[in-house]
Amino acid sequence: MNISYLLLFVLSNCNFTYSFIIAPQIVKNRHISTESISSNRYPLFIKDKSTFTGIKAELDEWNENLDDKNVDDGSNNNKDDEVELKSAALEWAKEQAKELEEMDEEQEEGKEEIDRKKYVVIGGGWAGWGAVKALCQSEMNAEVILLDALPDPTGSQPYVSKSGKPVEAGTRGFWKDYPNIYALCDELNLNENEIFTPYTNSSFYSPDGLEATAPVFSEAKLPFDLPSFLPESVTSSLTDNAFPMLPSPLGQVIATFPLFERIPLSDRASMIGLLLATIDCLGNAQDEKVTEGYDKMTAHELFIKFNLSSRLVNDFIKPTLLVGLFKPPEELSALVVMELLYYYALAHQDSFDVRWIKNGTVADSLISPLANTLIDDYSSSLQVLGGSFVKTISIDHIDDKKMNMKASKILYTTATRHNNKDGSIDTIINEHTIDDIDGIILSVGCKGMRSIVSSSPDLARLPTFANAASLQGIDVISVRLWLDTKVHTRTPANVFSRFDSLRGAGGTFFMLDQFQEGYEDALWGDSDVQGSVVACDFYNAGSVINLSDDDIVDILMNELLPSAVPKFADAKVVDSWVGKYPGTVSWFSPGSYALRPPLEGAGNDILPNIKCAGDWVKMGEREHGAKGLCQERAFVSGIEAANSLLQSTTDDESYKMIDVLPVRDDEIQFQLAVQANNAVMKYLPRFWVR
Ligand SMILES: Cc1cc2nc3c(=O)[nH]c(=O)nc-3n(C[C@H](O)[C@H](O)[C@H](O)COP(=O)(O)OP(=O)(O)OC[C@H]3O[C@@H](n4cnc5c(N)ncnc54)[C@H](O)[C@@H]3O)c2cc1C
Repeated sequence: MNISYLLLFVLSNCNFTYSFIIAPQIVKNRHISTESISSNRYPLFIKDKSTFTGIKAELDEWNENLDDKNVDDGSNNNKDDEVELKSAALEWAKEQAKELEEMDEEQEEGKEEIDRKKYVVIGGGWAGWGAVKALCQSEMNAEVILLDALPDPTGSQPYVSKSGKPVEAGTRGFWKDYPNIYALCDELNLNENEIFTPYTNSSFYSPDGLEATAPVFSEAKLPFDLPSFLPESVTSSLTDNAFPMLPSPLGQVIATFPLFERIPLSDRASMIGLLLATIDCLGNAQDEKVTEGYDKMTAHELFIKFNLSSRLVNDFIKPTLLVGLFKPPEELSALVVMELLYYYALAHQDSFDVRWIKNGTVADSLISPLANTLIDDYSSSLQVLGGSFVKTISIDHIDDKKMNMKASKILYTTATRHNNKDGSIDTIINEHTIDDIDGIILSVGCKGMRSIVSSSPDLARLPTFANAASLQGIDVISVRLWLDTKVHTRTPANVFSRFDSLRGAGGTFFMLDQFQEGYEDALWGDSDVQGSVVACDFYNAGSVINLSDDDIVDILMNELLPSAVPKFADAKVVDSWVGKYPGTVSWFSPGSYALRPPLEGAGNDILPNIKCAGDWVKMGEREHGAKGLCQERAFVSGIEAANSLLQSTTDDESYKMIDVLPVRDDEIQFQLAVQANNAVMKYLPRFWVR
């Protein structure tokens, strides 16, 4: 076969344009450069894969014939030309075959691209990172985008005061029953003992002095020496007078007996009424009617109905609630108060044991290793966009019945600073959109929800989001004080109780130099280490938040701290930082249960592709044992929201759900008490709730 003819044949199979332009050149030049049909032009001319398969088959056949011919006659006629032509054609064919394969791959990739889901997580706190982790690790063909208003949601850039010292919005404790956060440490190869302090005692101070010290229950000592007549088999199991693991709450009562320095025993005993109510409430957690009934009641009413002594409430329970749920009992849902009591005290004797970050902050000790591991492991599918403030979420396919809708577009803004010639700075707001979204996880708190729903008319039409956006948040203030001298305190974690200068707020102070002993350098940034570093938080801080920073520091240094521990009066403030966070923390107000966002968002029939995560989210069937304002709950809700989103947005079942670890089983006496209560409540009307 004549090579020109062959090539014309080949090219005529491609398409007319190609033949028309190239063929004359080919006819003239028997040596065809492969560049003249360079690969980057290939997609322009070849539309049909079968054409190329045909070309390749023709070339293969021709090649075989040519080989046969060369072998048959052994002649050298035009051999060079033939070899040259043969190799040029074959080269070309090979090139085309390779390109064909590449095209196949590209098509495959294109298909994957089409099949690829696009998930957006809004909010990069514990809930958001839980969601990102679960989406990335699901092995789903998905692009995951995390948007957060904070400049660096990865926790890698430390937040510092104006003078360059590290600061943090609130000092956060890690309680014993945070199984998923501890499992995360293992997964990230973080040694828990290097991340967290040992479990610590906490002290309660009032204007009268020390009120009580909460022990580390798992390390508590018996408050008396063991009698000598006891057999060795008993005493040997209680080495060093170690406290036996008695059923909760009996264990706590005995362990705390010597520690409540002022509250009389009769007042402490009145707690029993609250225990009974909690057994009833938590034992019927599946019953929405019971849950909502307790939620409509204030904790204050509950305490009256169940005869708690006002001394116990004022001196111990109220300050505890102010620092645990950040509001006094008269402004809290009885339901959530009992959930807190159950989770931190009733279900297990040692549930109240708490530890703290040993070096640095939650952001740099835990969030940053998690974020960086995910960013490394999923570099091609995960994008983290800090400084991105989400404004509007838009919904497609809105129909009158409001069924089967899909949120598909997000508008967010970023800010850039422009330095003007006159030295002034302009902030330029840039708008960006993300389209074709398959799923969204809203892991913002109440303030974030309010702001997004207020500029998203599509969401505002849905009662779920409108209700969530109607919930108010609690004001908090975080203060850090760097002192010129070390102040010794009885315990590193401390609660202020009943001080007038708190103005109705709750207050805590943490001795960071005691938590972070050995790492004091880091607490002082670039400055020389001097004395103690104290982190103080005010909760329910509405009446403190409008004071100037200096006034807040004065209240701490002149009134609160020296009243609790007189040695503070001798210390001078070397540096201070005050952070104010109005309306940011979830407020479990009476009646709020009905308004809190469900994890499933508006529901799978209505809007299956938006899920909600965060400590305030109702988890429904995915409810977890971790309760209240709690990092574990936020983290778990994020993982579960991602699991739910995957389930709602794909038919492909090859993805992996990320398991959540439950809190350990309730102690047996709590389970028995629930059974006994439920048996009685079959016959007794629950007249105290409506
Ligand atoms: C002072 C204080 C002390 C605490 N102490 C403890 C403790 O001792 N132990 C404990 O377990 N828990 C404690 N908590 C509670 C715990 O910190 C929270 O439960 C948990 O951090 C909530 O996580 P989250 O992811 O739900 O919300 P957040 O951490 O609030 O994350 C929400 C994120 O959404 C972002 N966002 C909001 N709106 C938008 C928007 N429009 N666009 C983009 N991004 C947006 C925010 O920037 C934020 O990063 C404390 C909280 C505070 C405030």
